[in-house]
Amino acid sequence: MTFVESMNIEGFVVAPGEQQRGRIPALELADGTVVSLPIHLINGTRPGPRVYLGAAIHGDEVNGIALLARALATIDPKALSGSIVCVPVQQPLALHADHRLPIAQFLKSPLDQVPADAWTCFPGDPDGNIAQVIAARLFGLITQCDYALDVHTPTRGGRYVPIAILGNPDLGPGAAKAEELAHALGSGWIMRGERGMYVSDGILCVEATRAGVPCFTFEIGEGGRLEEESVATGAQCVLNLLRSLGMTEGERVPPAKTHLMREFLGLRAHHGGLLVTEAELGQELKKGDRIGVILDVFGDVLETVTAPVDGLFVRATTLGTVSRGERVATLGLL
Ligand SMILES: [Zn+2]
Repeated sequence: MTFVESMNIEGFVVAPGEQQRGRIPALELADGTVVSLPIHLINGTRPGPRVYLGAAIHGDEVNGIALLARALATIDPKALSGSIVCVPVQQPLALHADHRLPIAQFLKSPLDQVPADAWTCFPGDPDGNIAQVIAARLFGLITQCDYALDVHTPTRGGRYVPIAILGNPDLGPGAAKAEELAHALGSGWIMRGERGMYVSDGILCVEATRAGVPCFTFEIGEGGRLEEESVATGAQCVLNLLRSLGMTEGERVPPAKTHLMREFLGLRAHHGGLLVTEAELGQELKKGDRIGVILDVFGDVLETVTAPVDGLFVRATTLGTVSRGERVATLGLL
């Protein structure tokens, strides 16, 4: 049997076949309150990769916290090959606000809080503002791992199919491995885009992959809600990933079909009103197919939303109202 060493992370020493949960300090608030990151470390008894699992870097994305917990609860450290570093809440201040951003801090000092979204601040700056300090703290953990997964949901008012979103394809050898991992996840939906926020410099998965830790973003379910279906599906996907890396026993559960897409197309409202979505999330749409309608407050139809091109309905707006210019649906283009 090959010798496996104790795992030594942030002062926690985890013997082979053991696991530990704890907290690592990250920020200090005005009253001296220390904001800490929850961390779950699992050390296997056989050699294997070290995987980072993170969720809730946006505070209203609760499904990710629960699905990681669900997946890790099934893992026996004594039967694990490799090790796991899990930070289920990557931005606790945003979780307190149940908002995408740590909004109380932002309202207090908007200038100092920009950039406000830690997700966009990687590799971070230990001497920066809250978002940059959090990013630096997380990046220090991520770069001690071989692979990473960053779990999200859309922000409140949005709903995604379970979708693996890859970073920029020009990130070196790690980009190809990240794509392999996205297939291994087995959610049935993969976006391999070259434009937009998901592939921008500074995004967690982009900078992790660039630093040699292949990573992608996993979006599932709806912001602000805790949904059994998303938790169960997401946990299954995480276990698929670990199985494909040879870390845990069991068979991968492959999707019936995998949709590989190249671009997101956001459709925006031309009128303000009540949004009634008719198409089903995940539906394959042909150009001209009806997605929904926008009604005025008297119930008259102001606008019929249709697909401008062929595409897959991958992200729905779940808010009941839209203003002009707000997104009503997102299509994934092949
Ligand atoms: Zn997010």
